[in-house]
Amino acid sequence: MRILKILQKVSTTLACPFQSLSSVRWSVAQSRACSSSSTTEERVPRNAVLRHLTSKIKATGPISVSEYMREVLTNPVTGYYVRNDMIRSDGDFITSPEISQIFGELLGVWCLSEWMAAGKPSQFQVVEFGPGRGSLASDILRVFSQLRPALGGAAVSVHLVEVSPGLSQIQAQCLTGGGTQAAASEDEAVYRHGTTTTGLPISWYRRLEDVPRGFSIYLAHEFFDALPIHKFQRTEKGWREVMVDIVPEEPDKLRFVLVPGPTLASSTLIQADEKRRHVEVCPEAGVVIQRLANRIAEDGGAALIADYGHDGTKMDTFRGFRSHQLHDVLASPGSADLTADVDFSYLRRMAGDTVACMGPVSQRNFLKNMGIDTRLQVLLRNCADPAARAQLVQGYDMLTNPKKMGDRFQFFSLLDRRRLTRPEQPDVEKKKPPAPLPVAGFSELSFS
Ligand code: SAH
Repeated sequence: MRILKILQKVSTTLACPFQSLSSVRWSVAQSRACSSSSTTEERVPRNAVLRHLTSKIKATGPISVSEYMREVLTNPVTGYYVRNDMIRSDGDFITSPEISQIFGELLGVWCLSEWMAAGKPSQFQVVEFGPGRGSLASDILRVFSQLRPALGGAAVSVHLVEVSPGLSQIQAQCLTGGGTQAAASEDEAVYRHGTTTTGLPISWYRRLEDVPRGFSIYLAHEFFDALPIHKFQRTEKGWREVMVDIVPEEPDKLRFVLVPGPTLASSTLIQADEKRRHVEVCPEAGVVIQRLANRIAEDGGAALIADYGHDGTKMDTFRGFRSHQLHDVLASPGSADLTADVDFSYLRRMAGDTVACMGPVSQRNFLKNMGIDTRLQVLLRNCADPAARAQLVQGYDMLTNPKKMGDRFQFFSLLDRRRLTRPEQPDVEKKKPPAPLPVAGFSELSFS
């Protein structure tokens, strides 16, 4: 009931213009354009990244896949995310918030619902990891603005953890209209700040550690899949780490090799009872999860993580995307996105008992539980333009169809343990205490 009530108050306006799209990673027909401006159109000179990697390998020997991925994606000078604006119809890939405004609206409702379930704390931080072009935050903020009375007098603030200076400028344009201030020095924890078009304070950081403490709802959409993984292969002699080396006689080509003996990573990151032949582990994801779990346990709040992934079952998922096509991960490094499926069983293990974990549940189930069908009907009822109607229906299909993004994408949540316990009985009349409120998205929509 709560979710439906909140949802009914979200206005019926269409958020952004839509843009034609010929071919994309998820073969959608159209995508949205929150902002068409791009400050980082320029592609990385391909050889610069390759040269940097090969000189590193020549100096110190083969590098781990984790180091390779980190260098290619987030090297401060040549990194793919640092230098490119890739999440576009004419870029390398497209994501759910870029496909339909409904996605961000429902996540906005989720944030509000968890804030309410926590007793409406007076401070309310929304923290997003890797906000891309800013579309998700923009849709969430529109919902917050429309539901301002429900937020009472809470002091809402927005905090973005983004490693790419170029993307942070695109986010600033999308969320504030461009009126942000950049920090005077590179060393500042807050490297950009301003006020959103809806009137909320907004700040940019490179790391979670720099985000102020306090009740927070954390969001990470297609963020964890970009964090560097280690790869391991089971051999007759035990687990061996996969590394990246130069092809002998071909100094401009890279190849995978196995380290002959154990590495620190192969000795510490594999579970004793591991059954698979090939395993990918993302220790950086583990560190972020542990930090999130501690913050949620101490300050209250919740984290919602959405990504493609598995529950500890898949083996080789490391792949590249360029112009919406699969791309050899070792070819022309820096010219394509690199990604690996998120292992949610690992995230759950890293969270430990500090917080309660929900999911993973499929994107289809999560969005259906959040009322996507109701929201689509409301928008369609109020939209006469045939092109916009078709786009809404296509976007809905892309997000929920099990053959498209509906089953591959998963939702996972970290919750404050107090959220799932029955509140103390306040009065002496030993009545049964009220049950904890169900967690939106993870349980079926209730019409009671
Ligand atoms: N959430 C967005 C973008 C996904 S792409 C969407 O769904 O559309 C990954 C995003 O994470 C980009 O904004 C990228 O710059 C950012 N990113 C990648 N690695 C990061 C890191 N280590 N720290 C902070 N941000 C990172």
